[in-house]
Amino acid sequence: MGKEEKPLSQDRLKQAIAAINAEQLIGATSDHVVVVSTADSEKVKLQPLVVEAYTNMREAALRAGFELQIASGFRDFQRQQAIWTKKLAASNESERALEKILHWSALPGTSRHHWGTEFDFFDAHGFSSQEGTEKKLQLVANEYEPGGPCYKLYQWLQDHAGQFGFYWPYKGRGNGVAAEPWHLSYAPLASHYQALWQQPESVIYLGEFLRAQNLLGLPLVASRLQNIIQRYSLQVETPPVEATK
Ligand SMILES: [Zn+2]
Repeated sequence: MGKEEKPLSQDRLKQAIAAINAEQLIGATSDHVVVVSTADSEKVKLQPLVVEAYTNMREAALRAGFELQIASGFRDFQRQQAIWTKKLAASNESERALEKILHWSALPGTSRHHWGTEFDFFDAHGFSSQEGTEKKLQLVANEYEPGGPCYKLYQWLQDHAGQFGFYWPYKGRGNGVAAEPWHLSYAPLASHYQALWQQPESVIYLGEFLRAQNLLGLPLVASRLQNIIQRYSLQVETPPVEATK
């Protein structure tokens, strides 16, 4: 490739936005995602535009001495349903149990990981340089706090992620979802998925899909679906202006 500019990314962004649909919103398809070749697992998938933004950010992080890696990217409905079923089956399926589960895990169909715009990151270099320990990533807060293996990368990203279009939707303020310092969202696309949750048809579509998939705890969920969407999907952080350019 020469030094010419790539086809205008604004046009490709417009195309990706135009292709957004309800199936992608709820994780019922994987047509919109591709394998991320720089991830250590073939299972990691994201939308092509997000892969590109991620790759640019990863290269910049490498130059700064970090090895940005993805622990989890796209997840489909079935994958989220497996997580859900395991957690709910281990509970007493009460309203309180539901709240507790939703604090950490999304209701299948409402995970931002369905969109192909989100990933959970870690610093592979930070992990390997922690001597004497065979530490495994757990995605817990102290890994991203001072002294933790991902802390310095997390700090670096706070200064730079916005330039690449990424931001943190879950800062643990107000809405009931735990703070997730490891979860990054590609704002130029994600904001359009999120906006779909403001349309009643999206909620109806999800309700029908949950019924068709025989979701465990359906009666518990169906009566408060609108409320769950409002609280856990819509009340998230607003992307900084920098990330939306
Ligand atoms: Zn995540």
